[in-house]
Amino acid sequence: MSEFQERFSLEGKRVLLTGASKGIGAAIADVLADAGADLILSARDEGQLLETAKVVEAKGRTAHIVSADLTTAAGARELGKQALEIYDAIDILVNCAGVARVAPFEELTQEMWDQTMAVNLTAPFALTQEIVPSMIKQGKGKIVNIASQTGVIGADDHAAYAASKGGLISLTRVLAGELGPHNIQVNSVCPTVILTPMGEKVWGPPEKGDPMKAKIPLGRFGQPVEVADLVLYLASSASDFMSGGTVMLDGGYTAL
Ligand code: NAP
Repeated sequence: MSEFQERFSLEGKRVLLTGASKGIGAAIADVLADAGADLILSARDEGQLLETAKVVEAKGRTAHIVSADLTTAAGARELGKQALEIYDAIDILVNCAGVARVAPFEELTQEMWDQTMAVNLTAPFALTQEIVPSMIKQGKGKIVNIASQTGVIGADDHAAYAASKGGLISLTRVLAGELGPHNIQVNSVCPTVILTPMGEKVWGPPEKGDPMKAKIPLGRFGQPVEVADLVLYLASSASDFMSGGTVMLDGGYTAL
């Protein structure tokens, strides 16, 4: 392996990935396994997780499935505990699970707000808190939080979603400060619309999608693998001097 390949290699790294059943999470599992990682895959849908596990195993890597409902902090903490029963320590935590409940502000219900905050913000907080001690103990770790473009700019109908992702970006920054002395890098990835089941649901109708696409200088939505490639960089030693980042992956949308 060349020096360059070594920096990007995840050979033997132990990953805990939420949101692994479909969309961006499934693509992340695929790419990280390709780079040599073994993974604990989590989501609610075990059938879909099995499909992701098959992809990981086809790369010659190990996949463990732990189903968890991240609507409660207890569910997130239990996932963390189970992960640390599988591996003594987690090298890379990717908080990818998320929900997008969109509605005009006046129609946004308390239930939509609460669920969004629970899955998108409280669960990453609780899960990260469970996993970090094992990273501190081994003197290194990588945490990648999948936030969103809407965490840094507004978007109509996205009050709960944008607030949750903005919170995740702030959590990332605070953790970069507190965990940096332990050699743990923490970064947020902020994609624009990515063509996944969630992306299709929210932006699929042309009357919504086309005006959005027109605001993206590159003129298209993103693909899950394009998010996964960035996660690989942030999970690898190639990014060892990068922490607290809010990395835009938006085809140029927020540059203007
Ligand atoms: P997706 O296709 O809808 O997948 C969402 C993932 O989150 C699934 O694996 C789902 O698994 C999991 N999940 C949802 N609710 C959960 C719960 N209560 N407990 C445990 N797992 C739960 O969405 P995606 O587009 O891949 O999104 C992945 C991440 O990227 C999210 O954080 C999203 O906010 C972010 N993002 C997406 C876009 C986009 O345009 N697609 C843009 C920016 C950011 P189960 O249903 O099996 O539980």
